[in-house]
Amino acid sequence: MKGNWLLQKGIFQFLILNLLIAIAYAIGVDLSHKFATLPATVASVWFPSGMTLALVYLLGDRVFLGIAVGSILAISLDLLKVDPPISIFNFLLVNAGCALGNCLQPLIATYLIKKFAKHKNIFSHVDTVLLYVVAAIFSPIVFATIGMTSICLAGLASWHNYGISWLTWWIASAIAHLIFTPTILLYKKSRKLEYRLNKWEVRLVLISFLLISWVSFGYSYRVEYLLLPILIWTVGRCGKFFASLLVSVVSLIAIFASVQGYGFYTKVSPNESLMLLQSFMAVFSLTSLILSAVIDGRTEAKELLKQAIENLEYTVNQRTEELIESKAQLSGFFTSAPVGMGIVDHQLRYIQVNQVLADMNYRSVDEHLGKTLQEILPDVSLMAEGFYSQVLKTGEVLLNQEISSVVADKSAGIKTWLASFFPIFNIDNIPYCVGFVVIEISDRKKAEADMQYAESMLRQANLELEKLVNLDGLTKIANRRCFDNRLEREWQRLSREQQPMSLLLLDIDYFKRYNDCYGHQLGDDCLNAIAQALEQTLYRPADLVARYGGEEFVTILPNTDLDGAFRVAEQIRGAIANLEIPHQNSDISDIVTVSIGVTSLLPSPQQKSSTLIKQADIALYSAKQQGRNRAIVFDQ
Ligand code: GH3
Ligand code: MG
Ligand code: MG
Repeated sequence: MKGNWLLQKGIFQFLILNLLIAIAYAIGVDLSHKFATLPATVASVWFPSGMTLALVYLLGDRVFLGIAVGSILAISLDLLKVDPPISIFNFLLVNAGCALGNCLQPLIATYLIKKFAKHKNIFSHVDTVLLYVVAAIFSPIVFATIGMTSICLAGLASWHNYGISWLTWWIASAIAHLIFTPTILLYKKSRKLEYRLNKWEVRLVLISFLLISWVSFGYSYRVEYLLLPILIWTVGRCGKFFASLLVSVVSLIAIFASVQGYGFYTKVSPNESLMLLQSFMAVFSLTSLILSAVIDGRTEAKELLKQAIENLEYTVNQRTEELIESKAQLSGFFTSAPVGMGIVDHQLRYIQVNQVLADMNYRSVDEHLGKTLQEILPDVSLMAEGFYSQVLKTGEVLLNQEISSVVADKSAGIKTWLASFFPIFNIDNIPYCVGFVVIEISDRKKAEADMQYAESMLRQANLELEKLVNLDGLTKIANRRCFDNRLEREWQRLSREQQPMSLLLLDIDYFKRYNDCYGHQLGDDCLNAIAQALEQTLYRPADLVARYGGEEFVTILPNTDLDGAFRVAEQIRGAIANLEIPHQNSDISDIVTVSIGVTSLLPSPQQKSSTLIKQADIALYSAKQQGRNRAIVFDQ
């Protein structure tokens, strides 16, 4: 039901609209006739054309019924006055022709404009204004041709006058398009005044306008060109709608005056006056339209520029804020970091340093800025500036470089820093500054050095200890412990190499008596002298002499066979004899002598090294038994 009602409402509205259009059209035709200038039968402006184009452009095909009905209504009224009356056929022919032409003309113009216009506001751009002018001027050709042909066919006009009548028809419609259509089209959009106008300004313009119109159209003074400044003022100060309205008003005044026989346009021949009037109106209208479009274009460009500037300003502000924020973050980081930080430029001058770094260098932050390291810390400048230059040259990070020097405060001693350097790149990706981070590691370094010293002392002590552990306290030759170790080691080595190993076991003869006779101190001296003699006799590096215990000594002779060992034993006896240590209580000599047990084996993993000692002991025992002061070879 509701949809139906709406449909009915839609149809009702459609009918009312078209009825109004039909009435308006008929009035327009009537007015056109009334305002027909000389020669009286020809209309200088065909008002209905101005109206139909605006209607079709704004409302589309909804208005064709009203236009057709209005055309038929107006034409029929005219045709009924014709004497003698025309035939029904001709009546219908002329009506059909005019109705068709009336509808086609705005349809073609609208189609052309809407198809080719690049902008929606056609009067705001010069290119669309020119397009409108072309469509407005050429679309009436269709109307004039169809209308004039049907009239001639119906015998209402002679073919003889076809050309001049067709031309007048065409121009009258085109002029209406130029003068009235823009005013209607602009009415909706651009009615608002663009500037606040001064009261006196408006009065002055209005008075000038009336005066010029009165003088030029009321009298025959040719001062209508004086209206141009007023038109320009209107375009600039009031906008294109009011400019268009002014054109319409001036045109109406011109037509009205001409019709009434006033003004310059009535002073020449009828055709000439018509052409002059029309060209005046066309020029006036074109000037207004193009000027408005140019100003609009300028305004739009200005607006775009303003917007672009605003956008730019906004972006710049935003970037600045971001920059300030990131700078604040950076400087916060810079000041609160517990390490020395700084930046030097490509001339190696400080451009930024933090307090920690300043303190490290015993200077203030300000004292650093603009100076080179050479001026701040000459002692380390050569080294550190080398690092800066390297980073600037290679663009690569340089990590954990140690720098040490004696600094300004000499009491602080040698200072050591650990620094890392990193490049800062410019927009072209070329390193132009060097940032660095420094920590002082003097304490750590000192601790490290102390540690090293302690370690070396310990090593030395260990060596001493080892020596002590392996040395005999009295004779300072290897002790029993050392001998045991060496014996085992050599045993394994020689068993691998399959080389003989010999052992001499030596015991001082009647030493108890020596002690008893000369005292313990001389006894010790004697032991010492014999030990030294033993050491001097054995010259091979691998040989070992050790104090085996009490007044017994042992020698290890690696890579030595039994014969060799025996020879060594004899050499030892000779060396000890050469010492000529007196021993008055000896049964066998008046000097200190020794007995030596000699043995040799080819070591093997199956046999124990202690076998060698047992054999030597047996041989020694044998030597004692056989009278002492001799070397006896172990015999199975
Ligand atoms: P022999 O070997 O010829 O049979 O007679 P000896 O008197 O040497 O007998 P033995 O080898 O048993 O004597 C060992 C003596 O060496 C006992 C001790 O008085 C003496 N002696 C052992 N060690 C030391 C020492 O470190 N210093 C001194 N002064 N005498 C020592
Ligand atoms: Mg003994
Ligand atoms: Mg002895």
